[in-house]
Parts: sequence; C-alpha cells; structure tokens
Amino acid sequence: MKKNLTSIVLLLFSISIIAQESKKTNKVVFILVDGISSDLYYKSNTPNIDAIGKEGGFTEAYVGGKRGTITETPTISAVGYNSLITGTWVHKHNVFGNEIKKPNYNYPTLFRVLKDAYPNKKTAIFSTWLDNRTKLVGENLPATNHVKIDYHFDGLELDEERFPHDPYKKYLKRIDAEVAREAANHILNEGPDLSWVYLEHSDDVAHYYGESKEFFDIVAYEDALIGTIADAIKLREQKTNENWLLIVTTDHGRMPSDGKHHGFQSHRERSIWVAMNKPITNDYFKKNKVAIVDVFPTITNFLNIPLPKNIAYELDGVPLNKQIDVFDLEGIAIDKKMQLKWMVEHKKNEIAKIYITYANKTKEGTKDEYQLIEEVDVQKKEVQLKINPPKQTNYIKVVLETKNHSINTWVKINKNK
Ligand SMILES: [Zn+2]
Repeated sequence: MKKNLTSIVLLLFSISIIAQESKKTNKVVFILVDGISSDLYYKSNTPNIDAIGKEGGFTEAYVGGKRGTITETPTISAVGYNSLITGTWVHKHNVFGNEIKKPNYNYPTLFRVLKDAYPNKKTAIFSTWLDNRTKLVGENLPATNHVKIDYHFDGLELDEERFPHDPYKKYLKRIDAEVAREAANHILNEGPDLSWVYLEHSDDVAHYYGESKEFFDIVAYEDALIGTIADAIKLREQKTNENWLLIVTTDHGRMPSDGKHHGFQSHRERSIWVAMNKPITNDYFKKNKVAIVDVFPTITNFLNIPLPKNIAYELDGVPLNKQIDVFDLEGIAIDKKMQLKWMVEHKKNEIAKIYITYANKTKEGTKDEYQLIEEVDVQKKEVQLKINPPKQTNYIKVVLETKNHSINTWVKINKNK
C-alpha cells in the first residue's frame, strides 16, 4: 500500500512537471554574425558561442544552395539572410545581391508567417543594417501585407554625427555593441516572441585584413556581444515561465586564397555553422551538414506556427528540432519520364506521397494546384514516373510528403530533339 501511495505521489509530481513545461511560452532569438567561415570559426576564440553549442548543439552547415543547379545561390550577405528568413534559396526569394533589387515577397518571411498565425505575438529586429527590416522583411509594404515589426533598433549607420564614418568602417564596431546591448536589454525586459539580431563588423574586418589577427580579434569581440544576449535570455528564463531558443549562425564563408572576400561557390565560401542553445536537435542535425534554409522550419516548429500547405511545400529546408523522415530530394526528367531519389532519416516503412505541378503560381502570389501522382514506401528511396508536361514547361515542381513534413525540388525537363 505504501509503495502504491509513493508511486501515485511520484506520478502526480511528474504530471505536474510535464504540465508546467507544456504551459511554458516558447520564444526565439536568431543572431546572424557576418561572414565567419567554419574553418575560421574553429580558429577563433569564441567561448560564448561554444557554450551555447555545448548546452544545445553545434554543427557545420552550408549556404549557396546546391552547386550547379537552379538552387545555386550567391554567397553574399543579404542573399544569405534572406535564405534564412524565407527558408528558400535564391531561385525563389530572388534577392541576388546586397542591392536587394526585387525580393519576391510571395515567399513569406518568418516575421510574416508568425504575424499571420498569431497577430498579437511580438517581433523585434536589432540590426547594424537598416535594409534587413525595410527591404528584406519589407516592413509595412503592400507586398508583405504590411507586416509589422513591433520593436526595432537599427539604422544607426545613417547617423553620421554620432557615428562618423571612417575608411575601415570602425564605426560599425561601436554600432554592433549598441545593437547587442539594446537586444539584451529589450529581450530581458520585454521578451518579444521572435527577434533577429544582426552584427556586421566581422565581415568588414575580413574584407580589409583577410585571415589575420585583426579578424580573430573582431570575432572574439562579436562573441562577447553574443554572450550578453545569451545571458539576458538565461535571466529572462529564470524570472518567467518562458522557454527560449537561441540560434547563432553566419551568412557565408570566405574566399580560399586569403579569407578576404566572398560571393562564389568554393567550399570555404559555402561553409558556415549553426549553434543552438537547446538540446532538441534531431539525428539529421547530428549526422549531416545542415543548411541555412533549415533554420526557418526549425523556428516555425519551435513557435508552433501552422504553415499553410502552399508555403510549407516551398520550403527548401527541414526542421532541426523534430523527427524528420526524408531529405535531399533530387530528380531528372527526359521527355515523358522522370526519375526521383531521396535520402531517408529512419528505417521505418511509411508511405510518401508525390505531388507535382507544371506551373509556378506561388511565384506570382497565387496557389499552385498539385496533383498526386504516386504513393511509394519512403524506404525505396527512388521512383520512376511518367509525366506529361505542357510544351513550354521547363521545370516540374515536385513535392514529397511524408508523415512529419514535406520536401521539394524543381526538376528540369530535358527534351530529346
Ligand atoms: Zn555577409
């Protein structure tokens, strides 16, 4: 009897812990610190980012899409940020350079999908570059349905009185510090649901000095700033019933020769890394080189943002924090035949549904109509299908949907003459 009583008490105790955990409000901060390739990260002194990775997880990652395919994406700053905040490569989001000429807002940002699902949740941007909010997120533009950022701290680089410009852009070092300080304070005091912090000066120093003492010094400096934000999150978690996911990453690597510039497709320019403060990573995170586009579904999963099918079907990444089934879908098509292959994350036999569409209505802002053309056991890992593309079609959009998520690819149609 006594034993039974003890187990009942223990059971009630654990139920109450589970209930408390599930009542916690999830919040996210992602930090982009500019232009630190994975090899240079390993050579730098970064105790704060290391500690975040040790607490949760750390992995190497890539930017730049898939080399030699339509998804190939320039390893340029704004291009990389936009891949993170839209979960897509450049063939969709359409930001090819830092001029941000014509973003395709029909691929919504994290801020937009959060506000669409939960209009009362709060967003914040702390940034050493104004364009992140005004152009990439597209705050208050008709094309983004006037998406609102509830709090921003940015544009300091335009205040030349307070921050006189100098040829080595040292004023941006001071702005990074202001941005991080404000982020830490605002997060601690207000606790917005989704925040983006952007720190720039590591990239400027690399452009001038390449791999050098100056560069390693600025990486250590940025790391200390990131530490203040990580501390603010810890303090906030202690005094609230909130659960904070902190993701720290970078937007591109550096040129192999001297570490100065970037923009092309070398291994070093494509090589980045991701650190997360929560040990909720999946096997895919642990075993693979993940991609910058995986951050979007990781955040939407953590914040429990329901994604409409037409948006989920366009995501080029997979979540790093829940069970996934498949990844790396690829295909070739010649005339009326298409071959698809994919990787599988587990050993279970499950049905995957394959959908196709010959049009690309999402690009124009309307919904694609997909047709189900095959159901197949995921463990087959490949399938051959008959297709019947209209004459003018160059690509078929293919979606492979499994129990937990979907992946997609654009298959080029090769025509036998
Ligand atoms: Zn950059």
